[in-house]
Amino acid sequence: MAKTKMIYYFGKSKTDGAGDMKALLGGKGANLAAMTKIGLPVPPGYTITTEICVHYYKNGKKYPDGFDAELKTAVAWMEKETGKKFGDPKNPLLVSVRSGARDSMPGMMDTILNLGLNDETTEGLKKATSNGRFAWDSYRRFLQMYGDVVMGVQKRHENEHDPFEEIMDNLKKEVKAVDDTSLTEENLQELVKRYKKLIKDRTGKAFPNDPMTQLIGAVSAVFGSWMNERAILYRQKYRIPDDWGTAVNVQSMVFGNMGDDCATGVAFTRDPATGENVFYGEYLVNAQGEDVVAGVRTPLKIEEMANDKINSAAYKELVAVRKTLEKNFGDVQDFEFTIEKKKLYMLQTRNGKRTALAYVKIAHDMVKEKLMTPEHAIKSGDPEALNQLLQPIFDVSAYEKAKKDGKLMAVGLAAGPGAASGTMVFTADKAEELAAKGKKVVLARVETSPEDLRGMIASDGILTCRGGVSSHAALVARQMGKVCVAGAGDIEIDYHKKTLKCKGFTLKEGDSISINGSTGEVFSGLIDTAPSELNQVLVTKTMKAADSKVFQYYNHIMKLADKYRKLGIRTNADQPDQVVNAIAFGAEGIGLCRTEHMFFEGDRIIAVRKMILAEKEEDRKAALATLLPYQQKDFEGIFRALDGLPACIRLLDPPLHEFLPQHDNKKGQQEVAEQLGITVKDVARLVEELHEFNPMLGFRGCRLGIVRPEISEMQARAIFQAAAAVVKDGVKVKPEIMVPLVGFKKELDLQVEIIHRVAKEVMKETGKKFAYTVGTMIEVPRGALTADEIAESAEFFSFGTNDLTQTCLGMSRDDSGSFIPAYQELDILKANPFASIDTTGVGQLMKIGVDKGRSTRPDLKIGICGEHGGDPTSVVFCHQIGLNYVSCSPFRVPIARLAAAQAAILYSVD
Ligand code: PEP
Ligand code: MG
Repeated sequence: MAKTKMIYYFGKSKTDGAGDMKALLGGKGANLAAMTKIGLPVPPGYTITTEICVHYYKNGKKYPDGFDAELKTAVAWMEKETGKKFGDPKNPLLVSVRSGARDSMPGMMDTILNLGLNDETTEGLKKATSNGRFAWDSYRRFLQMYGDVVMGVQKRHENEHDPFEEIMDNLKKEVKAVDDTSLTEENLQELVKRYKKLIKDRTGKAFPNDPMTQLIGAVSAVFGSWMNERAILYRQKYRIPDDWGTAVNVQSMVFGNMGDDCATGVAFTRDPATGENVFYGEYLVNAQGEDVVAGVRTPLKIEEMANDKINSAAYKELVAVRKTLEKNFGDVQDFEFTIEKKKLYMLQTRNGKRTALAYVKIAHDMVKEKLMTPEHAIKSGDPEALNQLLQPIFDVSAYEKAKKDGKLMAVGLAAGPGAASGTMVFTADKAEELAAKGKKVVLARVETSPEDLRGMIASDGILTCRGGVSSHAALVARQMGKVCVAGAGDIEIDYHKKTLKCKGFTLKEGDSISINGSTGEVFSGLIDTAPSELNQVLVTKTMKAADSKVFQYYNHIMKLADKYRKLGIRTNADQPDQVVNAIAFGAEGIGLCRTEHMFFEGDRIIAVRKMILAEKEEDRKAALATLLPYQQKDFEGIFRALDGLPACIRLLDPPLHEFLPQHDNKKGQQEVAEQLGITVKDVARLVEELHEFNPMLGFRGCRLGIVRPEISEMQARAIFQAAAAVVKDGVKVKPEIMVPLVGFKKELDLQVEIIHRVAKEVMKETGKKFAYTVGTMIEVPRGALTADEIAESAEFFSFGTNDLTQTCLGMSRDDSGSFIPAYQELDILKANPFASIDTTGVGQLMKIGVDKGRSTRPDLKIGICGEHGGDPTSVVFCHQIGLNYVSCSPFRVPIARLAAAQAAILYSVD
C-alpha cells in the first residue's frame, strides 16, 4: 500500500478530502474537509486515513512503508500553513490528535490535546500569550492526557484513584488551593514535575520531549483505542464492523481557555431531543473542549452568549454558521467550536444523533423546508429506534397526583424523552445486577462516563446531576433511546453514603424514583406509566390522529418510506387483535399465522390432547371434529380483521409433546387423565412414547400431516369453511396455506393433494367460491437446495429463518444461548444469528432457494417469516436477494417499513 495516499490535508492552501469520503477519512475528517471547503473557520490540519488503521492491525501494529516520511511532510505542511514550528521555543506549533471513525462513536476513543508542549515550548507559549499560568496549565493537561492515553499511567485497580488526579489533589491540599483554578503558575510547574516523575516511576520511561516522538506515540494510541473494551462494546451494540478502523485527525490547536474572551462549546442546529427548530447548545467561557463534553462544569445555554458582551459578536457568527451548516450538510448538525480571543473556530461537525421523536420531527420539517432530501430523511433514521415512540409516558392522573403530593424533587434537562420509574441505583454494576433480575432500574450518577455504558444499557432511565445536553449521559441516552434527565443541579449524590439528596428529600440506593425525560422532572417514588401517544392513536385508539403531532410526524416518515420501499410488509399474527394492531402499524397482510397458538386457548387444549393421545384413528377423528369449529371461528375472526388482505396460514408445526404435561408434571398428567377418562399410568406411558431426544428434528412440521393426514385435513377444512362463511357476508379473503418444514417435493405434494381436495369439497358443500394458494416454508437446507423441484408444487415460499438458521448452523435455537455470547466475544459470530441473518451461511441457502425456486416458477412469490423479518439489517438483505415481502411481529412493522425503504434507496435492484 506504499503508493496509496495516507494523509489528507485541510487548510487554506489546499484541501484534498471531501464530505463524501467518510469511509476513508472518518466522519470527522471528511467533514473538516467539507467545512474548510465552504469557507468556515477551521484550524488547519490533516487526516491519517482509516486504511492506515486497518493496515496497522493487520500487520502486528506496524505502519506501512513510507508512512513516517509522509507524516513528516504533513508536519512540514502544517508548519507552513500556520507559520509556527513543531518544537520551536519561540512560536511553537501545538496540535490536537483525535480519533474519527466512519460513524461517530462519541467518547469511546482517545483524544490528546496540546501536543507539542515540552519545557521549552511551554515557555514559548507563555511568551506568545503573556500568560504563564495558561501555558503551564496547558502543559500539565497534556502530560496528564499523554501519560494516561499513550503511556498507560492509569489507576491499577477499582479502589485506586486516578494517579494524576491524586497528585493534583495532594498538591492542592499542600498549597491550600480550593479548586484547580486557584493553582498558581509555580504550583503548576511543580505539578508538571510530579507528573513527569509519576510517568517515569510507573513506566520506567521518561516523558518524550521531542514533538515528533510525541506525535507518533499519540497516533498509535488513538489507533490503539479502536480496540479498547468500551469501543468494542459500542461497536457490538451498534453493529459497526471492527474492520472499518478509525482515522486520526491532527489539527492545529486553538485555545478556549486563554481568558474571558475565549470559550468553547457544542451546539446542535436543532433540538436533538425534541426536534424543535431552535438553536440548541451550550458553552463554557475560558475552558477547553473536553470540559464541556465531560460534563465536569455545567455549561451555559448557547443563547446566553448573545448577552455576553465580550463574545456576542462570535455568537452572531455562530447563528450564521448554524444556517450554513444545515444548508450544506442537509441535516441537523452537532458541532464543536472554540472562541480564541473573540475569534470563532469550528472544530468538528457531524449529523446530530437524535431521539426517534426528534428524527421524525426533523425529517418532517426539514423536508418541508427543502433543506433535506426525502431520500436523506429515510436514510438518516435508525429503524430500531422507532420503538422509542412507543415508549410509555407517565399516566396523567398518577403524574398529577405525584406533583400534588409534593414528590417533585428537581428539574434537570430533558435529555431523552419518555418516562422511567423504578429502583434507583448509583453504579453501573448494580444496574446490571438488578436488571438481570428483571427489575426496572434508574441509574443515578453525578455524571456518567464511558465506563458506565453497560449500566446505562441495563437501565430504564438515566439521571445525572452534572453536565448539559451534550454531556456523555445525554449523548448516549439519546442514541440508545433511553429516558434521561441530565444535569439536575439541585440534586446531590453521595456515592460513599449511597444517598441522593434534594430539597429535603433523602433517597437511599434501592429506593424508588421516577424521571420524566420529556420535561426533565425528577420525582421521589414510583409513578404509573401509560402508553405513548403513538400507542394511543394506533393501538388503544384513545387519541385522535389529528390531536397528536407525534403521530403526524411519524406518519409522514412512514408514508415516505412506503413510497420508496420495494418489499411488502406483513405480520406474524394469530389473533384478530394482533392483526388489527399490525394493520394500524402498516402491515399489508399476515405472513405467518401459527395455528398451534390457537390450540392452547380455553378448553380446546383438551380436544388437542385427545387428538394426540388417541390410539385409534376414529378417536383421533372425533377429537379433531371437536376442534374444527374452534379453528374455523379463529380463522373467520382473522379473515374479518384482514378484510381482504392476504393471510398466510401455516399448518400444524411443533412436536406434539409440546401440548402434553411431561413426566416432571405429575399434577398435569393427573388432570389430563381426568379430562380424557384414562389412567394416569396410561397418560404417562403415552407421553413416554411420544418422547423424543431431539424434538426439533423429530416428529414435527409436515411430518405430522403426512403421518396423520387427518390433522391437515381438519385444518384445511377449518380454513376453507371460514373463508366460505365470511365470503357469504361479502368479506374478501385471500388464504394462503403454508406447509412447514418441507425438504422433499413429495412431502409437499402429499399435503397439496389433501388441501386441494378439501377446498373442492368445501366449495361444493357451501356453494361459495374463493381463491387460495398453497405454498411452503423453506426452513431446512434440503428445501433450499431442491427449491427448483419444490417450486413446481409450491405457489409461494416463505423462509422460516429460525429453523433454517438452526439447521444450517447446526445450532439449536433453544440451547445456543449458552455459547453465542462467547462466540460473539471471540468474533466467531458478528451478531446473534437468530436475531440477524447470517448472510454468508444461511443467506447463501436463501439465495439458492430464491434462484432455484424462480428457475422453475419465475413468478414465485417469496417472503420471510422468521424473527429476522423485523431485523433492519436482515430486511436489507431480503431486499437485496429479491424477496417480495418480510413478515414480522406487529410492533416491529414500522421498523421493517423504514428498513425496507432504506434498503431500496441504498441498493436498488431491478
Ligand atoms: C421459522 O422457523 O423461522 C418459523 C417462522 O417457524 P417457527 O419459528 O414457528 O418454527
Ligand atoms: Mg419453523
